[in-house]
Amino acid sequence: MDRLKPVHGATPHRTLGQRLRRMVYGIGPRLIALLVVASMLTTIGVALLQFRYNELADRQERAIELERIRLAHLDAIALALWNFDEAQLRLQLAVVLQGPYVAAVEVREPSPEGGDGTLRLRLGEADRPGLRVERLPLVHRRNGRDNLLGSLNVLYDEAAMQRNARQRALETVLIQGGIGLLMAMVLLLVVRRTVTRHLSALARAAATFDLADPRTSFRLQRRRRGPGDEIDRVADALETMREGLQRAYRDLERTNAELQADIAARLRAEATAEHLAHHDALTDLPNRRLLFQRITHELAVAERSNTLGALLFIDLDHFKTLNDARGHDAGDEVLVEVAARLRAGLREIDLVARLGGDEFVALLPMLGELRERVALNARMVADKLRTALAEPIVVGEEVHRISASIGVALFPEDGSSAEDLVKHADTAMYQAKAEGRNAVHFFQRDLLLAMEARHALESDLRQAIEEDALDVAYQPLVDLHGRVCGAEALLRWTHPRRGVVPPGQFIPLCEESGLVVAVGDWVLRSVLAQVHDWRASGQLGPEQYISVNISPRQFRQQGFGDRLLAALHETEVPPSALVLEITEGVVLDDIDNAITRMQTLRDHGIRFYIDDFGTGYSSMAYLKRLPADGLKIDRTFIVDLGSDNDDAAIVDAILAMGRHFNLAVVAEGVETAAQADYLRARGCGLLQGYHFGRPVDAAVFAAEHLNTPKPR
Ligand code: C2E
Ligand code: MG
Ligand code: MG
Repeated sequence: MDRLKPVHGATPHRTLGQRLRRMVYGIGPRLIALLVVASMLTTIGVALLQFRYNELADRQERAIELERIRLAHLDAIALALWNFDEAQLRLQLAVVLQGPYVAAVEVREPSPEGGDGTLRLRLGEADRPGLRVERLPLVHRRNGRDNLLGSLNVLYDEAAMQRNARQRALETVLIQGGIGLLMAMVLLLVVRRTVTRHLSALARAAATFDLADPRTSFRLQRRRRGPGDEIDRVADALETMREGLQRAYRDLERTNAELQADIAARLRAEATAEHLAHHDALTDLPNRRLLFQRITHELAVAERSNTLGALLFIDLDHFKTLNDARGHDAGDEVLVEVAARLRAGLREIDLVARLGGDEFVALLPMLGELRERVALNARMVADKLRTALAEPIVVGEEVHRISASIGVALFPEDGSSAEDLVKHADTAMYQAKAEGRNAVHFFQRDLLLAMEARHALESDLRQAIEEDALDVAYQPLVDLHGRVCGAEALLRWTHPRRGVVPPGQFIPLCEESGLVVAVGDWVLRSVLAQVHDWRASGQLGPEQYISVNISPRQFRQQGFGDRLLAALHETEVPPSALVLEITEGVVLDDIDNAITRMQTLRDHGIRFYIDDFGTGYSSMAYLKRLPADGLKIDRTFIVDLGSDNDDAAIVDAILAMGRHFNLAVVAEGVETAAQADYLRARGCGLLQGYHFGRPVDAAVFAAEHLNTPKPR
C-alpha cells in the first residue's frame, strides 16, 4: 500500500498492541467513531420524534374515524335498535369493526343497575388486554323527543397501535443507522485513500529519512489533477525541505572533508615541525633539545630508582681535517654513517643525539646499581662503539677511517643537571683527546677543577688583553765575544691576584682557545714599537735584532704575514731587526704550506729561528727543506752539559747540523760560565741564559744591555 517511491530504511517492527493503538488513534477510526456516534444520536432523536409523531397521528386518525362512525353509522344503528332490526344492526356493527385498530364493537342498553349497561350485541374480540373503549351514545329522535337507547362502544386495540408506532420508529432507526454506517465506511475508505495512507507514508519516509541517501524522496505516488491538495503541498514542502537539507548536508560533508584534510595536513605539518624541532636535520638523530629533556627525565628516574646510567660524549678525531680535505658533502655522509653505527650499537632504551659538528652523545640509562659495575658496562659500550666506528667508511670511491674520543660521565653521581652531566662528559672527552685521541676517559672531579681553573685563567687573560695588562720582557742574546747582539722578547702577565704568571702556563692555553692570535699580535705590536723607539734613540744598533716567539696557531692564521709586513712598514722597523722563533710544531702539520709562508717573509728579509730544537722530531730531512736562519738548542740539553754525555753529544750534533746547513745556532738557558765556555769552545755563535742576563722589562734591559741613548 506504500505509495511513495522507494523509501529506504526498514519500517520499525511493532507489537500487536502498538499496532492497535496506532489504529485506534488514527484519523480514520476516530472519524468513523465520531460519525457513528453522531449518526446514532441523530437516529435515536429522529426515532423518538417519529414515534411521538406516529402516536399523535394515530390518535388523530382515531378521532376522525370516530367522527366518521358517528356521522355514518350512529343514526343507522340507533334506528336498527329502535326497530329491532337485528340484521341491520349486525351489518352496521360489522362495517364499524372494519375500521383501523378496532378490536371489537358492542351495543349496550341501559340497565337498571346503571354501570356499563347490558350487552345487546358484540362483534370482535373484547377480552384482549390493552383495549381502549370509546363510547358513543345511541339516541333516537321521535316526535321532537330524544330517546336514549344505549351506547355504541368501539374497543380500540391501543397496544397494537403502539406496537405499530414502535415498529415504524425502529425501522427508521435501522434504515438511518445503516445509511450512517455505510456513509462512515465509505468516508473511511475515502479518507484512507486520500489522506491517511499518504500521511502514514510521509511519516514513514520522514522517520527513515537518511540525509546521506540521495534516493530518499517525499514525492507521493498519486494521480494528480490540477495543482494538488494540501497533502501534495505538504509532500512538496517536505521534498523541497529534503533537497535543501541534503544539499546543505552535502555542503557540510564537503566542508567537513576539506576541514578533515586541512586538519590532517596541519597535524602532519605539526608533527614534522615537532620532529624537526627535536631532531638533527642531517642525521635525524635527536638534537640537543631532546637530549637534554631525556637526560633530565632519566636523572629523575635514576634518583628515584637508585640505578645508575652513563652519558658518553663522543667526538670524532680529526674530523675537521677530513671535512676540509674531502669537502663537506663527504663529511656529511661520514656523519650520517657514524650516526647509523652509533644507533645500531645501542639498546632500544638508549638515546643517541647529535650535538652538532662531529659531537655525539649517547645516553645509557639503567646500567646497574654499583658504580664499578656501571663503569664497566659503560666502558664496554664505549669500546663497542669505537670498534663500530673503526670499520672503514666508504663514501663514493673513497674509504675513510674514523676514530673517536669518548668521555664518560656516570649519573646521577657525576652531575645533578643535564647541563652539568653533559659538561662533565665533555671534560672527560677532552681528557681522552689529550691522552692521544681514540680513547675512552671517565670523568674525574679533580680534572674538572683543573679545567675550571683553566677557564678562569682564560677569561682573566682576555680581560688582561683588553686592559693592556700584559708586558714584554727582554733577555739578551750574546755572541762569542760576549757582545749583546739582540734579545728575545718574552711575554709577561702580572695577574692582579696571582702575581706574575709564566708564559709556559698560559701560552698553551692561549693556543688551545685561539686567544694566542690576539696575544701574539699584541706582542708583535709592542715589540715593534719598542724597536722603533730604541732604534730612533740609537740604543739598538743597526745590526742588533729582537727575536719574537710565534705560536703555531698564530703563524698559520690567515693574513699573519701581511699584517706583520704592514706593522713593520708602519713602525719603519727594517725586517732585518726582527727574528721569528717558531717551533717544529708549526711545520709538522703541513710542511709545504709552512715553507711557502716562511719563504714569503724571508723574501722580505725576516729571519726564522727554530725554537726548542732537539725536543721534537728535529729530523735532517725536513731541516734540509726548511728556509730557516737559525736553531735554538733547547735549555734541557744545556743544563746537564758538563755531566751528561748524551746531552753533550746532542748539542754537538746540533752544532754540526747548523754548520752544515749554514745556520746560526743559539744555546738557550746558559746559566754558568762552564756551560758558556763549553759551548764557545765548540763554536756555538750565540748564547742566551741567566748567565748573561735574565728577562727584564724594557727599561731595565735598555739600561743594562743597550747603548746609551743618543742625546736628541
Ligand atoms: P722559549 O722561547 O724557549 O723561551 C726561553 C725560556 O727560557 C723563557 O722562559 C726564559 O725566561 C727561559 N730562560 C732563559 N734563560 C734561562 C736560564 O738560564 N735558565 C732557565 N731556567 N730558564 C731560562 P719563559 O719566559 O717562561 O717562556 C717560556 C716559553 O713561553 C717560551 O720558551 C716560549 O715558548 C713561550 N713564550 C714566551 N713569550 C712568548 C710570546 O710572546 N709568544 C709566544 N707564542 N710564546 C711565548
Ligand atoms: Mg723562544
Ligand atoms: Mg726555547
